[in-house]
Amino acid sequence: MFNDFHGNSAVVHRLREMLARDRLPQAVILAGPEGSGRYTLALMLARALNCLSPPASDGLPDFCGQCSNCIRIAQSQDFAARFAEAVEARESMREADKRETRLFIQTHPDVLIIPPDPPQMMIKVDQVRRVIDTIYFKPGEARERVYIFTDSAFMKEAANSLLKLLEEPPGFATILLLTENPGELLPTIRSRSMIATLAALPPQAIEQDLGKYRPDWNPRQRALVARLSKGAVGRARNFDLPAYIHCRSQALTILNTALRGKDHSELFKVTETYRAGAEGREKIERLLGALYELLRDLTSLNSGAPELVRNTDIQSELSQLARSADFEWIAAAAERLNEVERGMRRNLMRSLSLDAFAAAMEQGSS
Ligand SMILES: [Zn+2]
Repeated sequence: MFNDFHGNSAVVHRLREMLARDRLPQAVILAGPEGSGRYTLALMLARALNCLSPPASDGLPDFCGQCSNCIRIAQSQDFAARFAEAVEARESMREADKRETRLFIQTHPDVLIIPPDPPQMMIKVDQVRRVIDTIYFKPGEARERVYIFTDSAFMKEAANSLLKLLEEPPGFATILLLTENPGELLPTIRSRSMIATLAALPPQAIEQDLGKYRPDWNPRQRALVARLSKGAVGRARNFDLPAYIHCRSQALTILNTALRGKDHSELFKVTETYRAGAEGREKIERLLGALYELLRDLTSLNSGAPELVRNTDIQSELSQLARSADFEWIAAAAERLNEVERGMRRNLMRSLSLDAFAAAMEQGSS
């Protein structure tokens, strides 16, 4: 139900009014920062367009969440999991098939989700071709074919194909384009679409929501999670706080070691646990995420904006660290982290590149 969508009620209301009058444009750009709920809202619209027994709420169209269309569309809700499955399925193919295969997420025959295709993480022309190949056929089980592009990074040829499609889409299809920044899309694509802009929720609004949904957390923990979830209420409610705190303490060890540049024993204890293993990749991604958060906080402190600190529960510790890390050091550290990430993508030994990170930091500080 649309009621489950948090924040941005004016935008959601306007979209539902269009649904009520059967006036939702055939191409809609859902713009907003990460975590503002673009994808959640897109799937809600897809269900509202196709629900088999649509209820009304607040006098506007809604979706039941129970019918076969609603259920199957909702199976796409966990984007990260569906995306990982699609990538894995392709990885297990024969080399020749792998090259021919483009990524899609599809849990309902008439609703196609088009994610950016790795390793470039861009929408490719063959993905748009799949849309063109199917869009002119009447939907089988739905009333409306729905296509959701989850990213606005299009390869040039792909963008041109999409543009041609937008010139004359069939009446029974809706195309949703999700983006952080509509400026990334061709102006000619923008001009053929309606833009609906979602804002991220302020931390205070999320703290309030957590007060209701996570009574198991104390106010300090809720304040921390509200900031770390960057305006995304769903992410905040399901935040794995113990895992984050664990990673963050290791990230702090790495930063401390790098800044002091003397004793390595602590660092090796940490990197030892990140040697390639079954869940090694996920662990190291969390660690890198925590490192980025800390560097970001150090930057906020150094630029005299302590109110932007996200790790509010360890602010005094961070202030101390910030005194020994200047802008240049932080910028160099962030650049090294990028290198570590790139290295991971090339499947270098994971702990090796982390050791290299700390070593490079010491050189930078000496
Ligand atoms: Zn339904």
